[in-house]
Amino acid sequence: MKSKTDLAVEGATKRFGGLAAVDDVSFRVESGKFFSILGPSGCGKTTLLRMIAGFESPDEGTIEIRGQDMAGIPPNRRPVNLIFQHLALFPMMNVEGNIAFGLKRRGLGKKEIRRKIGEILERVDLAGFGPKRIHQLSGGQKQRVAIARCLVLEPAVLLLDEPLGALDLKLREQMKVELKKLQAKVGTTFVYITHDQSEALVMSDHIAVMNRGRFEQTDTPENLYHSPKTPFVAGFVGDNNAWPCEAAGRDGDDAVLETPEGIHFRVPPPEHFSSGGLVELFLRPEAMILQPGPDEECINRFDAHVKAFLFDGAASRVLVVPEGSDRELLVALPQNRRYDHIEPGSEIQVGWHPEVAVCFPKGSDDPEEPGEDREEQ
Ligand code: ATP
Repeated sequence: MKSKTDLAVEGATKRFGGLAAVDDVSFRVESGKFFSILGPSGCGKTTLLRMIAGFESPDEGTIEIRGQDMAGIPPNRRPVNLIFQHLALFPMMNVEGNIAFGLKRRGLGKKEIRRKIGEILERVDLAGFGPKRIHQLSGGQKQRVAIARCLVLEPAVLLLDEPLGALDLKLREQMKVELKKLQAKVGTTFVYITHDQSEALVMSDHIAVMNRGRFEQTDTPENLYHSPKTPFVAGFVGDNNAWPCEAAGRDGDDAVLETPEGIHFRVPPPEHFSSGGLVELFLRPEAMILQPGPDEECINRFDAHVKAFLFDGAASRVLVVPEGSDRELLVALPQNRRYDHIEPGSEIQVGWHPEVAVCFPKGSDDPEEPGEDREEQ
């Protein structure tokens, strides 16, 4: 069966003065998917979301929701709902009153409203919470009421603008999982904007990485992480060590890179590889091996000293500095070994296999006009 498209954006552009806040963006979201737009502050996420919701109109391009062109349709007539970081719940009303609000405006009868409220509270795991006042709820429960209030109106697409931004870290971690489960359960299409890559990675079916008004790559979380298509995506999604190198030449099927410290590495030849050019090498912390044994497949090795031991349970890392430089690289500590002998000042060897490297010709991430004068917020 062909999947249905709930949202189709084609060539959307929005300019403020000389700045293209959203610059020729196209994407589609299939029905029932969790789609995130991930990018740094000021990249244009909110402007794009506001165009979908109808609060801004694109200077160019089209926005279709369930096959209907949204041009000229005001926000309150669009089949979308928007949730902000500040949930905008009505504090003087109880949970029921908050959820009933939109249904009353639609002119539904009392009995129908009561039935719908009961159903939606059950779906967001808040059965029996109807009479509670908003101030009696936890942060996570308030989030779920805000979502219930939107979902009860059965939008084609639920738009979420950094809804977890105001929560403390622990609750945010919890809500990531809750939101993902909730979306899968209700099956409504979610379009979620965030600057937090972990939120996007954990929850989404697909993520568009946005930079300077443009989508750099739209992909599954796994592909964005393992096969970034641009240096910006490599640097923005997940932790990465960037290491500028010179393309020293070829050796058989391999390209040889030389670091500014004079270390030689072999990698599969990146696209547009030419000797003498500059190459940006990216190595994930977990792609490097501390103290590789002689038999481990690490053609690439370098000597370093440990600058700091960053204990963080399962996410523990070591900050290492290659010999002859002041470059700092993060190397992950594998879970199944203890590293009592690694401490600041230790001399160690670090190894990595050529296949784990991601390389780009230097300059492939240079900003394009007119993004140069974009203000970061
Ligand atoms: P944040 O995560 O900080 O909210 P964002 O990615 O959502 O950022 P936008 O709010 O869409 O980014 O802003 C994109 C760019 O457009 C910014 O440079 C911003 O200053 C500019 N901009 C947004 N709205 C307006 C406006 N109404 N008038 C002029 N410039 C605007």
